[in-house]
Parts: sequence; C-alpha cells; structure tokens
Amino acid sequence: MAAYERQRILLRFADLVEKHNDELAALETWDNGKPYEQAVNVEVPMFARLMRYYAGWADKIHGMTIPADGPFHVQTLHEPIGVCGQIIPWNFPLLMYAWKVGPALACGNTVVIKTAEQTPLSALYVTRLLHEAGLPPGALNVISGFGPTAGAALCRHMDVDKLAFTGSTETGKLILELSAKSNLKPVTLELGGKSPFIVCEDADIDSAVEMAHFALFFNQGQCCCAGSRTYVHEKVYDEFVEKAKARALKRSVGDPFKQGIEQGPQVDSEQFQKILRYIRSGVDSGATLETGGDQFGEKGYYIKPTVFSNVQDDMLIAQDEIFGPVQSILKYKTLDEVIKRANKSAYGLAAGIFTHNLDTANTLMRALRVGTVWINSFDTFDAAIPFGGYKQSGQGREKGEYSLKNYLQVKAVVTPVKNPAW
Ligand code: ADP
Repeated sequence: MAAYERQRILLRFADLVEKHNDELAALETWDNGKPYEQAVNVEVPMFARLMRYYAGWADKIHGMTIPADGPFHVQTLHEPIGVCGQIIPWNFPLLMYAWKVGPALACGNTVVIKTAEQTPLSALYVTRLLHEAGLPPGALNVISGFGPTAGAALCRHMDVDKLAFTGSTETGKLILELSAKSNLKPVTLELGGKSPFIVCEDADIDSAVEMAHFALFFNQGQCCCAGSRTYVHEKVYDEFVEKAKARALKRSVGDPFKQGIEQGPQVDSEQFQKILRYIRSGVDSGATLETGGDQFGEKGYYIKPTVFSNVQDDMLIAQDEIFGPVQSILKYKTLDEVIKRANKSAYGLAAGIFTHNLDTANTLMRALRVGTVWINSFDTFDAAIPFGGYKQSGQGREKGEYSLKNYLQVKAVVTPVKNPAW
C-alpha cells in the first residue's frame, strides 16, 4: 500500500477513536479498574494523538544515497520487516496497543497482536474502528489469549518476523529465548522497573511531595516506570515524610466510574494478593508503616494508599517491582551516595530528579543509568519522546522517531557505474 494511503488510514482511525472516546474509556475502566476520568481525559485522547503522530511518519520513511569508495552507486531501502507479533500488558491496554500498532503500520508491516488476559475488550473495539478507517482485512489481527499458550505460540512461530513485548522482565527473558530457539526474529522489550525519584535538599518540598505521590500512585501504582524508590535528602527527610503521608491519606479511593476518584481497584486478585504480601514483607523487614497497609473497604481489590519510611536498600520492597500503591521513602546524605544507590538495581527504566540546582541536575541526569530522566516532572509521555530501558528494563525504544527503527529493515543496494568520475 502506498505510504500516503497508510497515512490516511491512520488519520481516519484517530478521528474515529475521538468519536468513540467515551465508549473506549468505559471499556478501559471496566476491564482494568482505572479511574474513568483518567481514561476519558488522558488515555483515549493520547491514543488518537499517537496515531496522528505515526500517520505523520508514514510518508517520510526513506533510505539514503551513500558515497562509497569506487565506482558504485549505493543506496539503502528502508523496507517493512513483515509480520509483527506484539504482546501487550494490562496496565494501559489502549496505549500499549497504540505504541506498538502505530509504528508497525506506519512502516508498512502487518500485525498479530495478543492482548493481556485481564484486559481484552478495548483492543477488540478499537480494531473494529481501524477496519472502518480502511485497513484491509488481515493486515492486523487481534488474539485474546493466555501468555504461555497464545503468546508463546506467536513467539516461536516461524512466519512471524519480529516481536515487540511489554510486560515483566521474567516473561521478557522467556520471549527472547523463544525467538532464539525458532527463527531469531528481532525482539524489542519494554520490561519492569524500580525507578528512583530523588529529592534534593534545595527542592521545593510541597511540589516534590506532590510529584513523588503522582509518580508512584498514578494508575494504582501499576506503571513500569513508577517512582518506587523515593530517595530524600536527610535535611528535608522528616518534613517530606510527614507531607507524603498526609497526601496519601487524602487520596480518594473508590468506584473508578465516580467523579473525583483518584484510585480504583487493582487489576485482579493475583496482583491484589501480591501487593499485600509485599506490604507484609515491608513491615516484617523493619520499615516504618506511615499509613495504609491493608485492603480498602471490604469489597473489591482496593488497597489503601500505603507509605513506608525508613526503607533500606536491601529490603524486598526497595528491590522488587511491587506494581501497587506502596511508596517507599529512603534517606540519603550525599550526591555520590545516592547515585550509587539509585544505580544499584537490575532495572534501568526511568528516574525523577527534584532540584533547582543546575549542577546537581546535570550531574544526576548524566550519572543515572536509565532510559528516561524527568527533571522536576514525571510521567510526561509525549508521542515524540522515546521510551525504553537500560539493563533488565528492556531493549529498544518505543515512541518517537527512534521507534521506527524497530519496524524497518535496511537493504543496501550497490550498482557499478560506467563513469568512474561520477
Ligand atoms: P504480568 O505479570 O504483569 O501479568 P506478564 O509479563 O506475565 O506480566 O504479561 C504481559 C503479557 O505477556 C500478557 O499479554 C501475557 O499474556 C503475556 N505472556 C505471559 N507469559 C507469556 C509467555 N510465556 N509467552 C508469551 N507471552 C506471555
């Protein structure tokens, strides 16, 4: 299909998504439990924005002409890879679909996408809109299925040419293995995290508290990049802990379809139980439980916003990805020390820095081994900003121009020329 046609389909798709904004948001809340206000005001509009962003790229993908030694005309063709297998998680079902499907289609590939077992609905609905926008039958197929069966089948399939996965580091390793054992299809991985959020002594404490709260509690704490290790300078530590606790106590938890609700239930019983086990381990290992610590209400998978202080690096709650509304606050003394401690993690997805000191910000920004650094901000997810991990947080980048590379092959074409002076 001509690039311009692909572009027009993606643009029409974005228009249709906007038209169906409320239904899509309702499905997302229904499936996942996230606040409807978040789905309707942020996630679905961002989906449309991502599709327009990728539509913009569709007709701007081209190779190069390269001056090689000798009488040769050398050019590169940027070709689609082919059939892309994509496996997405349950925490942002629509946005994960957009991050994967957008670049794959813009570059001219076909897609087989497997949704997470917990959240199959919005992908099915949105794919109907994609076909209404003009995508030919068969160019994109959705599979609702389980990971070890449907997901693994996709990974080991000899006719799948590329894999893109977002999920846990543990599953990411299995996926690389399946690729290696089958046809060595290239794999992009966006995996877990344990992101440091560093509050320096000069930071504006009230806004640091608010941003650290958002960085951790957003989406019920179910974010791969959640700021789940809050490092606070000793000079402002006590004040920060007091205020972080007060903010968590104010967080509105309840029916995600109700107005003004900041936190809905966790996605399922398995996650709910896992988070409660981590909270118990925090208490058992000697961290101070400032607030929260158990189920909210008696019905549903709601968890009280939980804050731990006096957390030590070797505690499980400071090392593992909890994926829940549990904030861990740690104390530090010097910049060198916090850099070492922040980097001492198997993960390297993101980091937050809170300071007005330019030298401190520059030092930290360069020293942290992570794929995204947010300075005096967190969770800014523009379509053009690349996202991905260092270390065991993943391979490759999604969003932005960088994401196109994942979905293109480069073919070098060499032709001798008659006139050597050319
Ligand atoms: P979580 O533990 O947060 O559910 P997973 O990594 O298990 O994260 O799941 C993310 C996605 O990976 C889901 O779509 C899931 O079905 C899929 N998945 C799980 N196990 C496998 C597997 N063995 N092979 C392929 N996909 C899998």
